[in-house]
Amino acid sequence: MKKIPMRQCLGCREMKPKRELIRVVRSPEGGISLDFKGKKPGRGAYVCPNPDCLKRAERTKALSRAFGVPVPQSVLEELHEQMADNEQMVDNKQMTGNEQTAANKQVAGNEQTAANEQMAANEQTAANEHTNNEL
Ligand SMILES: [Zn+2]
Repeated sequence: MKKIPMRQCLGCREMKPKRELIRVVRSPEGGISLDFKGKKPGRGAYVCPNPDCLKRAERTKALSRAFGVPVPQSVLEELHEQMADNEQMVDNKQMTGNEQTAANKQVAGNEQTAANEQMAANEQTAANEHTNNEL
């Protein structure tokens, strides 16, 4: 079995599979940015795709320690913005994707069942009335 590469989140300090984390990278030129694909060159650190973890990493100065340089406030703000954009993308995908389909199916299923029950009840009543007339 292939071993899953684990990395520690700088915010909550939990070890998680690398691909579930967002890579924060300091480029050879010194710029710090979020690396959603894990392909940018430079020194990397990891946080959960969670603004709270980014905030914690910011508060504990874990990011500055990881990169060995102080991370400017403007860069941190930019990271938060990138994180927010990423969250929005995930939310939109969920809305238009599986959840929407599941909700529609659920409604359709309930209506179908209700219709069947209604029909069955009507037939039953009609049958009973018929019997009564014959008597
Ligand atoms: Zn975390």
